[in-house]
Amino acid sequence: MKRLIILILLVILTFSAMGCGRQPAADTDKTIVYTTIYPLYFMAKEIGGDRIDVTNIIPAGVSVHEWEPGTRDIANLSKADLIIYLGMDLDSWILKTQSSSSQAVYYEASKNIKPIEEGNTVNPHIWLSPKNALIMADNIKEALISVDESNGEYFEQNYKMLAQRLSELDKRYSETLSNVSKKSFVVYHKAFSYLARDYGLEEISVIGLNDEQEPSLAQISRVIDYCKANDIKYIFTEPLVTPKPMQTIADETGAQILTLNPLGGLTEEEEKNGEDYISIMQENLKNLQKALE
Ligand SMILES: [Zn+2]
Repeated sequence: MKRLIILILLVILTFSAMGCGRQPAADTDKTIVYTTIYPLYFMAKEIGGDRIDVTNIIPAGVSVHEWEPGTRDIANLSKADLIIYLGMDLDSWILKTQSSSSQAVYYEASKNIKPIEEGNTVNPHIWLSPKNALIMADNIKEALISVDESNGEYFEQNYKMLAQRLSELDKRYSETLSNVSKKSFVVYHKAFSYLARDYGLEEISVIGLNDEQEPSLAQISRVIDYCKANDIKYIFTEPLVTPKPMQTIADETGAQILTLNPLGGLTEEEEKNGEDYISIMQENLKNLQKALE
């Protein structure tokens, strides 16, 4: 597999060496943008509007933690003007796709965000706090301007509208979550640590940072004990992972199950229903409020 990837990279390299190297995008051409995960895609689309052609790389319905690009993804990326990735070790595979044949600018969207670290590991789930989303939107605006200055004014305008919506979201989170009586919530994996940090809550998780891990019996019983000791009435599952350990916890404690969406991707159904980053974040807040009241 690795050999095949190298072979294809060589082919791409050869073809672009043959004289079809990228020209700087003409004003009439749309800037070709790739993003790794859905929240970045959403923000790039909102800010870039009709001046960019944006594609998200990681498909919906898979774990963003374990995903690696295939040969076709790598070939597609070689056509990009701008590649926006999250950083914080979530999508570091992206840097392996850099090649001399592509002039794509690689931009790390987590710039200027204060990381939550556990030992040597950084928690990458920054997008689940609206406060971070505001910083990410600013970064993505800068990224777009860096590759297409001629549309700078347009990107600024769109950014202002998005920042306004994100500020309102932040305000709703702050107001709602400062008025709840419970302060801790139980989830499957540590996707909501930034949300907890930024809005004064405590996240209790069954497993660690990666939703592909299998929980041990000890991890499950630790959470069962916590729920019983703290009179937890609701626990949270995620749309993309098997709810089996959470079902066990619910059965053992009598807690009901609600959903918190970690927003790594948007399913086709969610897309069809007109859902987006903001509507799902509002839904998350509604469910959090219900659990914490
Ligand atoms: Zn995750």
